Amino acid sequence: MAVKILIPTPLRPYVDGRDTLELEGASVGELLERLAGEHTALKQHLFAADGRLRSFVNVYVNDRDIRRLEHQETRVSPGDTVSIIPSIAGGTGGAVADQRPKLSHEEILRYSRHLILPDVGVEGQKKLKAARVLLVGAGGLGSPAALYLAAAGVGTLGLVDFDVVDKTNLQRQILHGTSAVGTPKLESARARIQDLNPNVQVETFETRLTSENALDIIREFDVVADGTDNFPTRYLVNDACVLLGKPNVYGSIFRFEGQASVFYAKEGPCYRCLYAEPPPAGLVPSCAEGGVLGVLPGIIGSIQAMETIKLIVGAGEPLIGRLLLFDALKLQFRELKLEKDPDCPVCGRNPTVTELIDYDAFCGLRSGETPPEAEHGMKTTVEA
Ligand code: ZN
Repeated sequence: MAVKILIPTPLRPYVDGRDTLELEGASVGELLERLAGEHTALKQHLFAADGRLRSFVNVYVNDRDIRRLEHQETRVSPGDTVSIIPSIAGGTGGAVADQRPKLSHEEILRYSRHLILPDVGVEGQKKLKAARVLLVGAGGLGSPAALYLAAAGVGTLGLVDFDVVDKTNLQRQILHGTSAVGTPKLESARARIQDLNPNVQVETFETRLTSENALDIIREFDVVADGTDNFPTRYLVNDACVLLGKPNVYGSIFRFEGQASVFYAKEGPCYRCLYAEPPPAGLVPSCAEGGVLGVLPGIIGSIQAMETIKLIVGAGEPLIGRLLLFDALKLQFRELKLEKDPDCPVCGRNPTVTELIDYDAFCGLRSGETPPEAEHGMKTTVEA
């Protein structure tokens, strides 16, 4: 039995239009060399002149990125599936518009209800395909956001999470199913997203976001959707987004209430303009006593997905400078105007926060204790 190689649409013309090839080889490098040897026109698309794999070509063995394995030395066995995924050039915001990928026939069919929308259309869909969105947290808010963004055709979804699926998550974290209990959320999320839309490239970061890694992770994305719900991460995400000039699509939930906004310091206030410093531990409900109605993150996370898509395609009026409050029991939406604070410690005229800070004393935690799961409740007081 040979190794199966999946050829992406843009490269199929160089392999006689085929989508799958079977080759023998012991490592990824060996397979790719053999592939390029048999299909010489393909070679220049895979390898640079110096023989290295082109930086915009990603290779996966089964569902794992070889950059997180042994690169081209990654061993393969008969029955494995190797996927060649040309990556989409990302980085700073403006790059989105410059690198519009083509849509395949399958994508044109899949996104037909978008393509006939005047505010999306083919150009908007290409922007979505070129976009790189980072979801911080694959829990209650991250679940609906990830599903809708994947379904909508966002080309690359980054996911940051370090948790394992627990049975108590299933009441609201709809990315994960019963069969995934006990497995890493990132694994479960990747499988679900790939099943929903195989065109989406999923990049996973199995880590807690810290002052050490936040800038490096966030830098590679165009838009960040903050779906965690603990203060250390909220402030990290906010500060990193301000420092890097990225929009931060914010959502939070507590029991029956939710909030959403878009913090984008270039055009409006940031989270610290709203809450300059995190509250001291003990002043806010503890994570354990939070509780949340399962549908609520579905609504707020969907709003985050909607705002993310609007930012990418440039449609409508984004939730910048507005705080949306949702009361599920009364079924009421309210809106507060948010002003940019000229004295904001991170985005104001004389910022005092110029690098990332790790806050760790929250939810009654003392420094050094392990913070509990992120998303159990909004620890943000609703000031309205
Ligand atoms: Zn600010």
